[in-house]
Amino acid sequence: MEEFEKTVEQLKIRLSDDSVKTVIIPHISPDGDAVGSCSALSETLCRCGIECRILTCDYIPEYLRFLKHIPDAISYQDRPEVCKRLIAEADIIFMLDHNTVKREGDLEAWVSASPADRVIIDHHPAPDKQQLVISDIRVSSTCELLYAVIVRIWGKEMFTPDIANALYTGINTDTGGLNHNSSRPETYRIIADLLELGLDKAYIHERIYQMNNLSRLRLIGNTLLNKLQVSEHYPVAVMSITAEELEKYNYKDGDLEGLVNIPLSVHRVCVSVQITERKEKVKLSFRSKGNIPVNEWAKKWFNGGGHLNAAGGQMEHPMDSVVKRLWETAPLFFEGLKKTESL
Ligand code: 5GP
Ligand code: MN
Repeated sequence: MEEFEKTVEQLKIRLSDDSVKTVIIPHISPDGDAVGSCSALSETLCRCGIECRILTCDYIPEYLRFLKHIPDAISYQDRPEVCKRLIAEADIIFMLDHNTVKREGDLEAWVSASPADRVIIDHHPAPDKQQLVISDIRVSSTCELLYAVIVRIWGKEMFTPDIANALYTGINTDTGGLNHNSSRPETYRIIADLLELGLDKAYIHERIYQMNNLSRLRLIGNTLLNKLQVSEHYPVAVMSITAEELEKYNYKDGDLEGLVNIPLSVHRVCVSVQITERKEKVKLSFRSKGNIPVNEWAKKWFNGGGHLNAAGGQMEHPMDSVVKRLWETAPLFFEGLKKTESL
């Protein structure tokens, strides 16, 4: 039996006991794929009568709160004691859209200490060893993989429009609107199935793409007009955003969603980096075109990782030194690429 089928079969057996208690955890700074997969899995387990709660280490952005069960997610920032108790009492902890407990922020310590079995469902390279790992880096998104898991365990009868909507949200957002990482025919077969199973595509597009507010537009406008720098020597664009600017434009979670992709629309630019000053750290987002592995750049110099074309990292240094480090490491990264190509 193929690895995927074997692992999913084990999960099916584990879930056949409907007295199991489960929690579902997305990654820190959850995006559409993390939140969509949490929503879809949560609704599926609810339909089976299995107890489940979604726990987050930080907050789910406002524009994703329309998805089923998401308004009921519990944040460690608001209710740490409840999170600790649910994690300690859980039989199964689902880790969605991330490959390591290190991406669970303040929840990491409690998850690591819990006796529960951990189940990763994810599409990032090199997942941690856990009791059950369902991982495939070829799929567009965790939501695409979760679709296959649900079909295999419960069949298509399990789907409701809410589940279809949540899974499509993840597939669509993780591919930049079916732009990158979405050339496998299977992705479109799944979308076709989701349409048959009740997906309201127009509604989802409206919820995820018509969520602009004036302050978000002005923050993006200011960044593109005044903060975007393009290298003369390398195909790299960098934008930095200070905490002061975030405050000035009344920043809310999700307001910067999508901004990092915009510089890639310039023909010559193949890598776009957004550097954002957050409370205790500086956060980096990398995006690339073609086969430029920005996850390696993020991993080697910015404590990060991710996918070939979409990666991130973080540093505790002041903003200016992170920007400086980015420009200093650009030649090292591109020279390193040339060398591997010529091998
Ligand atoms: P984003 O730029 O949207 O925050 O992140 C893009 C992708 O990069 C995420 O889906 C995740 O795979 C990865 N990523 C972002 N931040 C980090 C980080 O701090 N560490 C690691 N290992 N991966 C990250
Ligand atoms: Mn994802």
